[in-house]
Amino acid sequence: MTQTIVKSLKNYVGGKWIEAKSEKTETVYNPATEEVIAHVPISSKDDLDHAVEVANEAFQSWKEVAVPKRARILFNYQQLLVEHWDELAELLTIENGKSLKEAHGEVLRGIECVEYAAGAPSLMMGSQLPSIATDLESGVYRYPIGVIGGITPFNFPMMVPTWMFPMAIVTGNTFVLKPSERTPLLANRLAELLEEAGLPKGVFNIVHGAHDVVNGLLDHKEVAAISFVGSQPVAEYVYKRGTENLKRVQALAGAKNHSTVLKDADLENAATQIISAAFGSAGERCMACSVVAVEDSIADELVEKLVQKANEVKIGNGLDEGAFLGPVIRDQHKARTLQYIEDGEKGGAKLIRDGRKDECVHQDGYFVGPTIFDNVTSEMKIWKDEIFAPVLSISRVKNLDDAVALTNKSRFANGACIFTNKGGNVRQFRETIDAGMIGVNIGVPAPMAFFPFSGWKDSFYGDLHANGKDGIEFYTRKKVVTTRWV
Ligand code: NAD
Repeated sequence: MTQTIVKSLKNYVGGKWIEAKSEKTETVYNPATEEVIAHVPISSKDDLDHAVEVANEAFQSWKEVAVPKRARILFNYQQLLVEHWDELAELLTIENGKSLKEAHGEVLRGIECVEYAAGAPSLMMGSQLPSIATDLESGVYRYPIGVIGGITPFNFPMMVPTWMFPMAIVTGNTFVLKPSERTPLLANRLAELLEEAGLPKGVFNIVHGAHDVVNGLLDHKEVAAISFVGSQPVAEYVYKRGTENLKRVQALAGAKNHSTVLKDADLENAATQIISAAFGSAGERCMACSVVAVEDSIADELVEKLVQKANEVKIGNGLDEGAFLGPVIRDQHKARTLQYIEDGEKGGAKLIRDGRKDECVHQDGYFVGPTIFDNVTSEMKIWKDEIFAPVLSISRVKNLDDAVALTNKSRFANGACIFTNKGGNVRQFRETIDAGMIGVNIGVPAPMAFFPFSGWKDSFYGDLHANGKDGIEFYTRKKVVTTRWV
C-alpha cells in the first residue's frame, strides 16, 4: 500500500469482493497529508440485505463446525496478523493518522483479541450438576445466536473490529461488519487475511457505508445481535432501535475521562502519563485523558510540568520517525476543535498552551497542537463535551472528596485515573468514582482482551460489555438439559 495508489474499495460478501449496488461513494483521505487514498462505497439497504442473507446461509453450516476446528482457523489468523504486523500498522497510520508506534500497539491489541478468542473450546464450556434430585441431572450447553452486525468507529480500525468478530465467529456465529467510512481500508485487509487463514465463505462479510447500512442491520430480522462502538448519540440511537427490534445490543459510546492528581503522587510520572493519555492518537481515544482534577497545593507545579512536556511533543505525520501527535481525522473535526478552543477562552478558562499557534496548524493535514486550559469548571462546555482532540482541561480541587464529586458530575463514565502513593486514597477512589475502567498511576487503563471493556452511564448502553467473559456471554445462548436416567 502506498499513499499514491487510490483504491476503489468493494464490499466483501460470501467470500467475494463485490461492487455495491448503490453507486454512491465517499472519499477517504490520509489525514496527515490530505491526499485521497480511496473511495469507499456508501452501500444501500439492498446491499446490506444481500450480505445478511449470505451470512445467514453460511451460519447454517458454520454453527455445525466443531469448536476446536473453528479455533484452529483463528490460530492461523493470529499467525498471519503477526507476519503482516508492519504492513497493517502502516495502513492504519495512513488512514487514521496515529503514529506508527501507536499503530503497532493497536495491531497488538487486535492480535490479543484473536488469541483470547482462540480459547473458545475452554471458554464455551458449559457446566453440569450430576445430582439435582434422585437420578436427575442438569447441564448447561452454549450455542451461537446467528448473524451478528458489527458497527465500528474511525479511531481504532483494528482493535475495535477485533473486539467483535474473532469472538463472534469462533463461537459459531457469522458476521457482517460495517467499518467506519472514514477508515475503511484496514477492514478489507483483515478480511483478506481471514480468507487466507481458511475461514469458509460467508462467515465474515463487510458492507461499507453509513446510515443506510446501520439501519439495515438494526432492522433486519435475521440479524440476532449488534455490537456497536462509536459516539454517544449514535450509540443511544443504535441501542434503542436495535432493542426495539428485539435484538441483543451492546453499544459502547463516547467518553470524557478524568484523572485525579493528589499531593502525594509522583508528579513527574503523573505528568508524563497525562501528556501521553491526552495527546496520544491526537486525543482521539475513548480512553483519552480530557480533564485533570488536581489538588490545589501541587497544581502550579503539575501545570508547569504539563506545559513543559506538551512543548516537547513532536507533531507530524505518524509515519515520520519520532512523531507522536498526528492529525485529527478530518478538516471538519479540526474546525470543530478550533471552535472548542475559542469557546473555552470565551467561557473564562485560562488558555495556558494554545495549540492553534503551532506551525503544524497551517500545513497540509488536519493538525492541531497540544492545547491546555487551566481553571476549568464543570459549567464550561470544554469540561462537559467530548472534544475528541488534543485539548486538555485542568480543574483545581481542594482534596480527593472534591475531585470525586467533580468527576461524578460528568454524564460519561468510561475511564478514570488516580495518581497517588497512598493505598487509602486508591481504595476511596475505587469505591466512589463513577467509571467502568480505573487506572492507578497510569494514564490509559484500557483492559486487555480477557477483561471486559466496561463503560458506565452515558458511555455504554446494554448489559454485557465487549471482550472478556462478557464477550462469550454476548455471542452465545444457553440450553439447560435436565435428564432422568431410567
Ligand atoms: P460515530 O458515532 O460518528 O460513528 C460510529 C459508527 O456509526 C460509524 O460506523 C458510522 O458510520 C456510524 N454512524 C455515524 N452516524 C450515524 C447515524 N446518524 N446513524 C447511523 N449510523 C451512524 O463515531 P466516530 O466519530 O467514528 O468514533 C469516535 C467516537 O467513538 C467517540 O465518541 C469515541 O469516544 C467513541 N468510541 C468509544 C469507544 C468505547 O469503548 N466506549 C471506543 C472507541 C470509540
